[in-house]
Order: sequence, then structure tokens, then C-alpha cells
Amino acid sequence: MKASKYILPTTKDDPSDAQVNSHKLMIRAGLVRKASAGLYHFLPLGLKVFKKIESIIREEMDLSGALEFSLPILTLSEVWEQSGRWEKMGKEMFRIKDRHEVFHCLGPTHEESFSSLMKPILKSYKDLPKNVYQIHTKFRDEIRPRFGVIRSREFVMKDAYSFHLDDESLDETYQLMRKVYRKIFSRCGLKTIPVQADSGSMGGSGSEEFMVISPIGEETLAIQKESGYAGNVEKTPINWEHEKVEKIFPELEKVSTPNEKSIEEISKFFSVESKNTIKAVLFKIDEKHNVVLFIRGDREANLVKLKNQFSATEIRPLSEPEISKLGLVTGFIGPILTEEISKDLKILFDASINSTDSYILGANELDFHFKNFVPCRDLKKEINYKDYSVAMENDPCPISKKPLSLEKGIEVGHIFKLGQKYSKAFDIKVSDKSGKMITTTMGCYGIGVNRTIATIIEQANDEKGIIFPISVAPFEICLVSISKTESEYSEIEKIYEELNKNSLDIFWDDRDLGAGFKFKDSELIGFPIRLSLGKSFFEKKEYSILNRKTGEEKTYQFSTISELEKEILSLREKLFGEITTIV
Ligand code: ATP
Ligand code: MG
Repeated sequence: MKASKYILPTTKDDPSDAQVNSHKLMIRAGLVRKASAGLYHFLPLGLKVFKKIESIIREEMDLSGALEFSLPILTLSEVWEQSGRWEKMGKEMFRIKDRHEVFHCLGPTHEESFSSLMKPILKSYKDLPKNVYQIHTKFRDEIRPRFGVIRSREFVMKDAYSFHLDDESLDETYQLMRKVYRKIFSRCGLKTIPVQADSGSMGGSGSEEFMVISPIGEETLAIQKESGYAGNVEKTPINWEHEKVEKIFPELEKVSTPNEKSIEEISKFFSVESKNTIKAVLFKIDEKHNVVLFIRGDREANLVKLKNQFSATEIRPLSEPEISKLGLVTGFIGPILTEEISKDLKILFDASINSTDSYILGANELDFHFKNFVPCRDLKKEINYKDYSVAMENDPCPISKKPLSLEKGIEVGHIFKLGQKYSKAFDIKVSDKSGKMITTTMGCYGIGVNRTIATIIEQANDEKGIIFPISVAPFEICLVSISKTESEYSEIEKIYEELNKNSLDIFWDDRDLGAGFKFKDSELIGFPIRLSLGKSFFEKKEYSILNRKTGEEKTYQFSTISELEKEILSLREKLFGEITTIV
């Protein structure tokens, strides 16, 4: 490809609305252009990267035995009503009414469509297991589209759905997908870690997110390098082991604390650390139960753990009026409650609280707190302490008990054991060997293609621009030439044509522009290999080859084009070799 015939709208300045490197660089390198909030045009160079990633995904999915489909993006409301998600998806779903007044949506995901499609196709146990997939556009009206294509409103996902006779078969495909995902991401030059994620009421190891460690990640991960543990902080169990020493504390004492409400204010007032206080956090679960969770002042309540504990689908904080209605005083709530108040409340205690230690907490009276509150001494009943908090730095690793460290991560893929949620909703049954009808069980597996591109760039860039891994670079090689005359141009053209003929993936910057400008563009776009032919080529037959990743540039004097080609191919092979070692 010749640059003179291409569309290469590179820019020097960062777009004003971009906060993260990948977003800035994708726009500046001319890979994408913003259409409107959360919507992006892909330009030829960006589309090349997109297609390379898509091919890697397709190759690995096909190799695993999955079968490719293509389903309509527009999906009938009826199938969503059947699963109960027409309501549940809320505002994230783009809804459309057709001329016959029939509601559709632009598919945000395709569990429903694949389920209703596969139901009449799968008849017998002999038809199972099956893993079906597509690489197709999804629409989600995200509250906060941001970071360019990382969180956009239209994006392409590889979404796969597997159907099984039993859990064992589901686990087999799940484990296979786990391996396939690692291969896909490593072929893209991306270092990912599978992280235990929340799988709702499914529990167990039913869901893993493939994360790329990055400071711009929206997820927080708890990691222990030596034991290999990696989990979302909301999913990470904390096994508290409190020292159970009988200490003597002064008696419980009610103290006047006018206007001192927050944990920060209380800690300061009593000159204690926040971990020596207990706070109350109040929730409404499934619009049914009022819950008060007592948790150490330094810890954060974990909505995911709470939701799972109650097998709930919804959880929200109680409002001020709701709290007052219960007879509680915000800022001064404690566990010594009257029977009248307790009867409308589910009272939970987080395991961060050590029953033999002493704490400061609310006295259930405006402007009063208790000090010297010792749970095992001052609560008249047996307490069941459970883990309801978000994992923090230095919490014990669930495997090794060694301290956890926290990292930010971007989710690029997700594998999930769906169980029978959709098989039941769509009545997907097959006959077993004895002719009995069995409800199938399912898994689903997603990868965001656009987000993968941005994440690769997030992981591989420097002050000059993108450093594309060779497997996903728009072109593997960029030839930058500086010619003064037509005959010089023709001389380079011969070299370009020879290399191009031999199917090297080469981009020739033949534009009539200055050397500095062209070099800068090639570094901004991040071509892995650059061949420069300028003044010293015409004077001394010198060829310069740059490895964009290491910045190493070597000059050669080749007597034939095939010698040049050999040198390029050997660097190409080396760069591919480096990619296959990424896990
Ligand atoms: P997130 O928590 O980031 O919103 P999700 O849990 O909604 O992601 P899934 O429904 O599991 O995502 O979708 C599978 C994959 O699709 C994700 O791993 C991600 O790569 C991609 N994806 C999801 N939402 C978006 C989006 N708005 N823009 C781009 N890619 C997305
Ligand atoms: Mg989402």
C-alpha cells in the first residue's frame, strides 16, 4: 500500500475530550474518528487492526470446534420478555418500534436470540455439546461512554454460547474456552489474567473475567503473585482470623458527640483509628427486606457479597426518610436496638469485627455514641459474623494467607457458566439415551474486539506513539523513503514492488513530505518494522532498519533485494516469537 493513495489523517495534537493514551493515540494515528458520544468511525488503518484481531479470534474459535453464525442485530422484544430481561436491561437497551408498532431492540448481547434459535435445532443428546458464536455488533446505551472505544455505545463482540447435557460437559467447554482465550489474547500481544468474577447466585468458579492490568482499568483486582490468586475485590473472600485474647475493657459508656457523625469525625473526636469504630450501612434488598450491616469503620460494604447472601437481584441504599421511618438516627446507629426497631430489620455483622475487641459506635440517639463497646460482652445474643466487605490491600490471600495487593484492570473478555437460566426460559430440552427429556445447561463467552484494540495500545505505547505487536499491526513494515527526483522515486518503487510481490505486509510512505514528518508518523502509528531509504541510500546504498519496540536501528549494505528481504523476515520472525511467549 502506498501512502500517497491512502487516507492517513494523522494529527499532532491530542483530541480535547480524550483522557487516556489509547484514545488519544487511536485518534492521532488516524485509526478512528469520533462520530458522536460513544460512537466511532473506523478508518482504513484502524479497520486493518480490527480485522487482524477478528481473524485471530475466528481462527482460535474455529480450531476449538465452535461454529460461526450471524444473527440479526435487531431482536424482537418477545424473546427478551421470555427471559425477563426486557424490563431488567433498563436504559442500557436501545429500543425501537417498527411500523407495525412492534418493539425491537438493538441487541446488547445475544443469549435470548441464540437460545430461541437453538431450541428447535437441538433435539437429542447426540446433538450436544455445541458451542456457537458470532463476531457481531452490539449496542449498549452506556451511562458513561468513555475512553474512546473502551466503553462505547456500539461495539463488536465475539459472543459464544455453549449447550450441554450436564455440568461436567459445561465445565469441559468452559475450561477449553479459558485456554482458547489465553491463546487469543497472547496472539494479540496482550498480557491478560483470568480473574474470579461475580457469578451472581451461581457461585463457585462459574465466572472469570480476562483482565489487563492498567491504571485506567475500571475494575479493582486483588492479586497475590506467589500463590497466583487473582480475584475481583468484590469476589475475593476474606478469611478473618482474629486473635481471641480476653482483654479487660472499661465499661460501656454513652458519650455526647454533638454533630459528630462520619467515621472520620468520630475517629478524630475519640482519638482512635477508624478500624476501632463500627459503622452501620443500610440497604433495601429486592424491595422487600431492610438490612443493616455493622462493619468496621475502615471497611467498605460489599454489595455483591450481600446480594449473593440473599440470592437477591437488586440491592440499593436506604434513603434518609426510610431510615427515619425505621426509628433510626443517621450517623448514630448502633447494634444495641430496641425490639420494636429490630423486628423490621435484618441485622448483619461483618467478620472484620473482632467480638473480643472494643469499639466506638452509635448509641441510637441523636448526638450520642458508645465507647468501650465489646461485642461478645455487650450484645446479649450470639452473633454470626460473615464476610461482607470489599477486599483491601494487605488482606490475607484466600489461598496462601499472604498479603494481597490491589491493581486496576480492564476487562477484555468474560467467560461464564450460565447454568439453566436460559435453557429453562426457552425450554431447551434434548432427549437422553433412554428417551427422557433433559433440560440443557449453558455457558457464554464474550470478547470485546474494539476494547481489545484499545487495551493493546494502552499496554504498548511510548511518548512517540503506538508500539503495535506485530500480529495486530495495521502493516508489519513501513518503508519510509526520501527521494528528490523521479528516478529516485522509481528506484525505491522497484524495491517496494519486489517486497510487496513477495507478500510482505508493507506500507510505503511515498508522500512528498519531509523526512522528519514521515518518521514521526511511522512512530505514531507504531509500525513494528521501519525500513528507511533516504540520502545515504542514494549515496552509499545504505538501508536502515528500525525495530520500533526496542528503538534499535541498524544500517546494512545489501547487494540484492533478497538479502534485504531476508533481514526483514528474520526481524519479523523474531518479533512474532516474542509474542507467542506472552501469557
Ligand atoms: P463492563 O463491566 O466493562 O461493562 P460487561 O460485563 O458489561 O463489561 P460483558 O457483557 O461480559 O461485559 O461483555 C463481554 C465483553 O464485551 C467485555 O469483556 C468487553 O470486552 C466488551 N464490552 C462490554 N461493554 C462494552 C462497551 N460498552 N464498549 C466496548 N466493549 C464492551
Ligand atoms: Mg457493562
